[in-house]
Formats: sequence, structure tokens, C-alpha cells
Amino acid sequence: MPGTVLVVEDDRELRELVRRYLQRAGHLVHTTGSGAEAVGLLAGGGVDLVVLDLGLPDIDGHDVLAVARTDRDVPVVILTARSGVEDRIDGLRRGADDYVTKPFSPTELVLRVEAVLHRARGGNGAGEVVTFGGRLRVDEARHEVRLDGAVLDLTPTEWGLLTALATTPGRVYSRYELINQVRGYEFAGYERTVDSHVKNLRRKLGPDGARIVETVLGVGYRLGWSRDQ
Ligand code: CA
Repeated sequence: MPGTVLVVEDDRELRELVRRYLQRAGHLVHTTGSGAEAVGLLAGGGVDLVVLDLGLPDIDGHDVLAVARTDRDVPVVILTARSGVEDRIDGLRRGADDYVTKPFSPTELVLRVEAVLHRARGGNGAGEVVTFGGRLRVDEARHEVRLDGAVLDLTPTEWGLLTALATTPGRVYSRYELINQVRGYEFAGYERTVDSHVKNLRRKLGPDGARIVETVLGVGYRLGWSRDQ
């Protein structure tokens, strides 16, 4: 269910990163670094969702939010550098459908965009729910992973790693690929950092951790359980 997404972000590098990930997921993407131009594009119609940076150089991002939500009834996912709970609540109160705090994983942003699109199109609100091996349940819209019915408390990085691996069960992902999927543009660490996140993720997955997230020696990791029909 691809959509037409307008990305409003004045940081060119970040804007292009978001564009790339959304396009890879099959969406048609328009981009701009200007709030005024965004308002113009919204007036033109045909936009299914806006990814909106609140800190824009020309007009207040909240004004773009108001135009999208109030005038055009287009769903909005906010990108915010502010991590304060108050700011998130404020954004949601003003009508944003979801928000992602910078720095964020592009994979997570795409999942959130798709969950909001799904809801906006009259989905049941539960979004895509996929199970693996009959026991592991990934609920994208709720941003929730359950194993044998119990919710796992994952960090954003662990969530990103698991959902990246779950995209294609059985496919081997190199550490480098996983870094790109999970941490995106801001990652400046070492590939071995992936190993420590995998170690934590496996611990949370319990006794089957190393079978769910399998090591492929010399290559990387893969999801060892297959997707249920
Ligand atoms: Ca900005």
C-alpha cells in the first residue's frame, strides 16, 4: 500500500536519507526544505502523508502541521530534535499522528509512516502484525514485540535490529547493513557495536535468543525463524 509522502526537512542530508528509505519501501516521495513550499504543495493536493521537521528556517513547523491536519486532513509524522515528553505531547495534541525523535532509525520511521498510512486508510489500528515460528509476534503499529504472548521491552536499536532482520527471514544481514538499517546517518561507531546490541536482544528473547537471531559466522546475522502464513 504505497503512498505519496511529502518530506519537509531543511537538513539536506537527512532529507535525502528519508527520501531514500521511503522510496526503497515503494512510496512516491516529494521533498522540500521550506515550510512555505510545503504549504503550497499541500494546497496542490495528492499528498497522503507528511513527514515534518518542526524546526524549519522560514516558517514555524507548527503552521505546516496546522495546514496539513486542519485544512487538508493529511496525516503527519513529526520529526523532532526535542526529546522532552512535553514537546511530544504538544505535537500530538496539535494533531500530529506520530512523532520520531532525532536521531532516529530510518527503518523505524518507515514503519511508523506505514502504520499511520494504514490507519488513515481505515485500517483496524493494529497495523501489520507478523508472527514467526508461531511464537514471535511483531506488531508494527503498536511498536510491540511479543514472545509467547509476553511483551518484550526493547530499546529502539534492538527493535530496529529485530525488524530489519524480520524483513526477510533467513536472509543474512552483514553488520554494516544492519548499522545502516538501524542507525542510519548518525552512526559513527564500529561494526562490533552491533554485536553488543544483538547480545542484549538475545538475552531479552530468552533461551531461544540465539536461534531467533542466528549468527552466520564471518558474515553477520539472520532471523532463524520463518514467517508464519
Ligand atoms: Ca530543522
